[in-house]
Amino acid sequence: MTLDNRKIKKIGIPRAISYYTNYPFYYGFFNALGVEVVLSDKTTAEIIKNGNKYVASETCLPIKVFVGHVVNLLEKGITDIFIPSIQSTGYKINNCSKIRGLPEIIRNVIDKPFNMIEPTFDKTEKIGFKDFWLDTANSLGITDKKLIKQAIETGWECYDNFREMTENGIGYTTALNNAINGICEKKNMQLVKPISVAIMAHGYNLFDERISLNLIKKLEKMDIKVYTSLNVSRQDSIDALNELDETQYWANELDLTGVAAHYLIKQKIDGIVALSAFGCGPDSLMIDEIEHHAKDCNVPLLHLNIDEHTGEAGFITRLEAFADMLLRKKRQKLKYIESEEQVNSQPQKQKVLLTVK
Ligand code: SF4
Repeated sequence: MTLDNRKIKKIGIPRAISYYTNYPFYYGFFNALGVEVVLSDKTTAEIIKNGNKYVASETCLPIKVFVGHVVNLLEKGITDIFIPSIQSTGYKINNCSKIRGLPEIIRNVIDKPFNMIEPTFDKTEKIGFKDFWLDTANSLGITDKKLIKQAIETGWECYDNFREMTENGIGYTTALNNAINGICEKKNMQLVKPISVAIMAHGYNLFDERISLNLIKKLEKMDIKVYTSLNVSRQDSIDALNELDETQYWANELDLTGVAAHYLIKQKIDGIVALSAFGCGPDSLMIDEIEHHAKDCNVPLLHLNIDEHTGEAGFITRLEAFADMLLRKKRQKLKYIESEEQVNSQPQKQKVLLTVK
């Protein structure tokens, strides 16, 4: 319950960090409770600049962006802001210290009066999903357990629809808009393209078009089929990690090593693009891990490191060079397979002659 026991009617959600993977759930849950959701604006240069003002320069870009989004909500006059502390998503499967300590970071850097809704999710400490949402609803002044249970179910419904669509190949924004409007498109959108890549990246880096400099659209414009973690089920990612004998240690691991491992094993990709924030420790460990498996499978990996100063021109040049190399490699492979097939289709006698020559 909030200090003044009031029922909160409007909640601000920063369009950053957990928003990118969990928003369908958040939307379904808060709406079912009768609480209006107000999102911060899409990331802009101004939002990044504002975030930059408050935190140390060596802080990673996604955290600076998160701070900028909180400032944006305060500028909109929102007084109740959802800033969860997601500590661990499984036993000893942890988030990095910055995500775990998000409420503390905000409390320490933003010196403005507002009410932070800051539930904790910590599977290691047995603070699970139900506790998390009960705490959230109670902080909004809502204590009706039946209503909260229904809201959790609505959240799941919205989230499951979203995932069903993304796993069927429907794009992130379309799936998100459909899910929050109660639509679940059943059609399969798996397109065939000359080359395919898997992107390993946190959702908050990849699906924020400003942070990722529109990476997905840029690759698609080059006629490349793109796979992301949202196209793979959680269980398939876990199975792939097990098959490669890797242990899930980080909470966001499935968005990085999980997706890359899955597509490497399925032999469905020609390359991997790893997108990470400058100075991120967990990302460099995960990318190192996959680099080694990618090498074994003869699949090239391009590592793009981003911060607020990353320029679009250099980014495009590296992507084009990578796409070019993948295409050349694919053509050589296809030529080789074709010539092998021709040799194998010759009569036995001719085959011997060809070998002797
Ligand atoms: S995992 Fe890396 S990029 Fe994400 S918040 Fe932590 S340090 Fe930043």
